[in-house]
Amino acid sequence: MASLKRLAFRRATLAAVMGISVAACAPAPSGGGGGDAVSLDEAENAVFLLDATTTLTGEREGSPEARAVLRLANRLGPSELGQGGVGLGPLAVGALTALRIGPDERPGTADDLVLKRLETLDAVPYVGSRSYALLLAQAQSSGLVDTMDPCGRGAAGPTGLPLPTEITEEVPDLVRRSASDRLEIWAAASSPGPNALVDLLREHGCAALTFDLDELGLDPDEPELRAPLRIVLLEDDDYDSISDAAGTDGIAYSASSTEGDAFMVPFSAADDVPEMDDTLAHELIHLLHGRVAPFADDVPWFIIEGSAIDAGTHFGRRRHGFPTGFVEEWLRGATGTDAATTFARYGVEDRTQTLDQVGHDQSLSGFFVEYLRTKHPQPQGAGIVDIQQRMTTAMRDASNSSRTFPGAFSAAVPDVTLDAAKAAYIRYLDDSAGDWTARVEGTVFAR
Ligand SMILES: [Zn+2]
Repeated sequence: MASLKRLAFRRATLAAVMGISVAACAPAPSGGGGGDAVSLDEAENAVFLLDATTTLTGEREGSPEARAVLRLANRLGPSELGQGGVGLGPLAVGALTALRIGPDERPGTADDLVLKRLETLDAVPYVGSRSYALLLAQAQSSGLVDTMDPCGRGAAGPTGLPLPTEITEEVPDLVRRSASDRLEIWAAASSPGPNALVDLLREHGCAALTFDLDELGLDPDEPELRAPLRIVLLEDDDYDSISDAAGTDGIAYSASSTEGDAFMVPFSAADDVPEMDDTLAHELIHLLHGRVAPFADDVPWFIIEGSAIDAGTHFGRRRHGFPTGFVEEWLRGATGTDAATTFARYGVEDRTQTLDQVGHDQSLSGFFVEYLRTKHPQPQGAGIVDIQQRMTTAMRDASNSSRTFPGAFSAAVPDVTLDAAKAAYIRYLDDSAGDWTARVEGTVFAR
């Protein structure tokens, strides 16, 4: 069995956030689909979304209610969805199942679609507010809503495997300050920090976890995610002493056979909330990847850190309207040589020596993943659309099968090999040297 990879810290420098705040633009309300000249009960086809994030009944995209409704819409068979089960009409059942199996009309093939958003469900012909209410009622009565809450609705269980010894050797009196069955915040009994800080971390950690699960295409009730995710909140002195990397914002530790996973953040992380949000999404991605792909030991660091940098940047931008500033500093003057350096130094072995090198390589890696996201989009309907889902699928595949990571990458990103993508990225940085606008067009870094 392959050895576990110790996950790296994320930050080399604390860059000032230079971004200007721009209003997040809300997508136009989606249509109810249909338009067929079939006479319908009005509610049968009515739009149930007010906008892309809120439904008429108040459920937001990514909420436990939304997840549970989508789970049922994705997995129930026609008879379970129909009059004998959920109670959907035959037109709605037909339209939904046709969408799921794709144009080839066969389930279990590459053109199958998994509905990830209420928006997609709302756009299905004949699926409207009545269908939504029926699916939600079924999800609630079966208890599915509770199990689909990423942050947990149940009481905390036993404390499980010990926290990483790197942390407990320095701070032996760690206790749980906030805990559910899914998410725990730990701090030292001797310096617990204010309740408001714990509450802030819990609330923002929960939002980051919800975002990450959606990005990675993971459900909260996957078996690997049953043990609670743990955040350790430390006094800055303790954090600096353990990390030997003062000025960084968070460090994740993967699990071993005798220790559980966790990540630590210093009290001062809350001084800059946009940076803290970026950090939370970043470190949680590391824990999630460690959970679902613990044996993928040939995944290059530029993919591990690149995925986390990209997720953190997207989450920060979604929350605050601007990308956190750290990557941009490194990316502005970068050329193809910088990318080549990162690929060579930050491969299966991490050969970085200094925090500056880590900052350089994390930034070039984060933009590589963003480059893949924008230059190699999967066609809608191919099942997995998003780069984070494809990287997670590739890591999982490399962990669970005899496939190498490059092989798993090619399966997840069929239009390019990993080597070809690296070469193209090097050329892209050379071609866009000196033209920042062109370089970041269409990416999360565009203003
Ligand atoms: Zn990281």
